[in-house]
Amino acid sequence: KPKAIVIGAGIAGIAAAIRLAVKGYEVEVFEANSYPGGKLSEITLGAYRFDAGPSLFTMPQYVDELFELAGKTKGLSYQNLDVVCKYFYEDGTKLSAYADEDRFAGEVAGLTGEDPANVKRYFKNSRNIYQITNHVFLERSLHRLKTFLRWDTLKSVFRFPQIDAFRTMHRANKGFFRDKRLIQFFDRYATYNGSNPYQAPATLNVIPHLEQYFGAYFPDGGMYSITTSLVKLGEKLGVKFNYTCVVDEIVLQKQEVKGIRVKGELQAADVVISNMDVYFTYSKLLKSHPELQPAKLLKQERSSSALIFYWGIKKSFQELDLHNVFFSGDYEAEFKAIWEKQGLYHDPTVYINISSKYKPDDAPMDCENWFVMINVPANKGQDWDELIAEARKNIIAKLSRILGEDVSSLITCESILDPRSIESKTSSYQGSLYGTSSNNQFAAFLRQANRSSKIKGLYFCGGSVHPGGGIPLALLSAKIVSDWM
Ligand code: FAD
Repeated sequence: KPKAIVIGAGIAGIAAAIRLAVKGYEVEVFEANSYPGGKLSEITLGAYRFDAGPSLFTMPQYVDELFELAGKTKGLSYQNLDVVCKYFYEDGTKLSAYADEDRFAGEVAGLTGEDPANVKRYFKNSRNIYQITNHVFLERSLHRLKTFLRWDTLKSVFRFPQIDAFRTMHRANKGFFRDKRLIQFFDRYATYNGSNPYQAPATLNVIPHLEQYFGAYFPDGGMYSITTSLVKLGEKLGVKFNYTCVVDEIVLQKQEVKGIRVKGELQAADVVISNMDVYFTYSKLLKSHPELQPAKLLKQERSSSALIFYWGIKKSFQELDLHNVFFSGDYEAEFKAIWEKQGLYHDPTVYINISSKYKPDDAPMDCENWFVMINVPANKGQDWDELIAEARKNIIAKLSRILGEDVSSLITCESILDPRSIESKTSSYQGSLYGTSSNNQFAAFLRQANRSSKIKGLYFCGGSVHPGGGIPLALLSAKIVSDWM
């Protein structure tokens, strides 16, 4: 059997291991942490459990596909959300984003007076962008001639002018809607891959389609069960997972992979798949080969990061749901503070995820587990301790004001994740959540390909390489890697 080594047990690394095992490889995964999942992990604080990173589960079909490939009839169990997210505005408006398009358009019309037909027109445009970009940018390698020789790809290429790449998301959204709250609602989708709606191309207006059409889901066992169920599947297929194993080097002979070095020992392999952030794969694991470093690629701007407070809350809030967003009063000023000043805004948009709404054993009776997150810049050495203290004060003041309740007195336990700890826990350069940013129209073409063009036998998967960050795209990167084999 040919031997494959995967560096990192992030969700893409696990998916790549499963796919290669199905293809007949002997597969071994080396993970630096004592647990699998990378960003998709969990923490517990006393009687509270929290999903540590991702909280929104979209496009579950890419998880299902892994179980199907392995011939399993039973996979991950999850449920479809009727209300995707609740939105709270500073002017008192409360909007429920219903999964059902008609119901959502009706809700929007009732609150803002915007014509429901306009909302539907928006989703139609979003769907159109998806149909054009899906085959070219998402499901296949952009770096392979075969992709462009296919009829569906060629058809998409001819329709490229329709993907709206030359104006920003915000500008496009302003063209669709008059109501500021609705423009802010659709601008927020830029943050799904850590970008800025005032800079990112309107092509990213594809994202609402992914959420609205394919739906939003909650795994019955919480987000972390995506990781644990796939690790189990991998183990059943014979994948060997090694934890607490920091890979120090990818070993080459001339320009061909020979294996990796872990704990001073060479582990030989025919192919190596790095699920480690591509920046560190080159700068740490291939540091003795400066001639092979893709200098331009490594200089690209990174996506934003996050500051998260995990709070045990000794109360249950009827008006809150699984996903909740408390919008900033001035979105443009918030993005300026993050992207131009590389700092935080005093009135940040606050996202609260409460998994105990769907999984009651995540919190004690009549209590809730709040995952409270704001978008922050990538780590460039800012004084995070000071920024975190300031942000905590501002977040508590905002939530207390809108919920009409002193939130600080309800916090029974706390843990914090910031760009520094995201970087140190998962080896993500600058603590960015989604690899490189998508703030310009060329970003999709500039990401690292899933196969090295210079080093034979080296492949890349995960949120920092093609096709991009987020669970669905990370899973697709593993598919593209295995399609190369
Ligand atoms: P990672 O999760 O980055 O894991 C890489 C793994 O490699 C880690 O386990 C690391 O320890 C290991 N590793 C690194 N270097 C070495 C080495 N030298 N040796 C051995 N092992 C090594 N996505 C969504 O779809 N929905 C969301 O709601 C969402 N929200 C998010 C919120 C937060 C706070 C964060 C942090 C991310 C969020 N994301 C979300 C993004 C999503 O989590 C990531 O895109 C995805 O999990 C990335 O997976 P990955 O496979 O690239 O690997």
